[in-house]
Amino acid sequence: MVLDTLMAPDFASSKAYETALAQFDRAVSFLDLPDGVVEFMRHPKREYTVYFPVQMDNGDIRVFTGYRVHHNIVLGPSKGGIRYSPHVTLDEVRALAMWMTWKCALVGLPYGGAKGGVVVDPTKLSLRENESLTRRFASELTPVINPHGDIPAPDMGTNSQTMAWIMDTYSMTMGYSVPAVVTGKPLNIGGSEGREEATGRGVIIIMEEALKRKGLYDKGAVRIVIQGFGNVGAHAARYAVENGFKVVGISDVSGGVYAAEGLDIPALYTFTRDGNLLSSYDHPGVEHLSNPELLEVDCDVLIPAALEGQITERNAGNVKASVIVEGANGPTTPIADEILRSRDVLVIPDVLANAGGVTVSYFEWVQDLQNFFWDEVEIMRQLKRILLKAYDRVAEYCETRKLDMRTAAQVYAIERVARATLTRGIYP
Ligand code: GLU
Repeated sequence: MVLDTLMAPDFASSKAYETALAQFDRAVSFLDLPDGVVEFMRHPKREYTVYFPVQMDNGDIRVFTGYRVHHNIVLGPSKGGIRYSPHVTLDEVRALAMWMTWKCALVGLPYGGAKGGVVVDPTKLSLRENESLTRRFASELTPVINPHGDIPAPDMGTNSQTMAWIMDTYSMTMGYSVPAVVTGKPLNIGGSEGREEATGRGVIIIMEEALKRKGLYDKGAVRIVIQGFGNVGAHAARYAVENGFKVVGISDVSGGVYAAEGLDIPALYTFTRDGNLLSSYDHPGVEHLSNPELLEVDCDVLIPAALEGQITERNAGNVKASVIVEGANGPTTPIADEILRSRDVLVIPDVLANAGGVTVSYFEWVQDLQNFFWDEVEIMRQLKRILLKAYDRVAEYCETRKLDMRTAAQVYAIERVARATLTRGIYP
């Protein structure tokens, strides 16, 4: 598998925390908050590292490293995914946990932020090894997760099956079923309609709103390029096409495919879900590109939906899109942000653009706690309502405080967490 066509992941994950802190420092410079409260929000609340053994299929015992970081719990239980990747670091998990705090606060969910990860390449595990690793990690996490304290969900390298194993392991320990301890579960054990598609659909809901406001809303003419064809990128592409948009480029770890007239997204979805890489997709009129080339291809909307640190000082000047919608968390570095601002490229930040996932996670959690389930029409209605309200907040802060969208989103979120901290008061 060719990973090197994406920006070197080690570089990306180690820089993620620097990016998160630089964004935070920029946002707080527009706020008048007590220094101590700023310092409190700049740090994770607690960090949990575990080293745990797993018996592999060949009989060997291997020790894995796992993390769970709770960044902030002022607004409610902490919420955020668990990532399986060989490039996971504590700093990356810290960054992702911090972004979850701002994402939940911006969207108005009663949650703080968390994230977890295991240093492992899940594509190299058998199903049994993956289950053993997940169950042992879930057992290690038992002291720090629970439906009222910290609620994990899927992220890169994990999926609804991973959540089923975590839910089951936790429930076995408790002696009764606790579906609300994780979200992103399969439907038949307390999952929610629309959760799997939610992040990708949310990206397109936000993109449509941005295009409408920009007066760029000629659906058939808008050319969309999406980096990443995993849970976020693939569902964004499908929903875009279902809504009459044209997706001209997509990529996975093996590289990208491009067709000026638009790609056949349903066919590509089936092709990749059958286990094929895009580099082996052969179709008349379809060109192959590397991941770096894809980011610079001629298009109107660019949706980075893969890793952190993809749009950097090296390529920000060459991006042709006039709108970037961040499906991934942290895909743009602070220097790239500056370059894009100076070029008048509209960047819709991750905490708004990809908030659809955690929003439907919230619906799933509410449904599990109430044992009362909604249909997909209701889920989509509520999802759109919440995301568009969040868009309005960001737009209003851009307008009234003369800020770019990322800074506006973070200023709103940070202010909200700071106010709640002060209202609750400092214990004891
Ligand atoms: N991992 C997703 C994110 O980055 C979803 C988190 C959740 O649903 O709790 O937003």
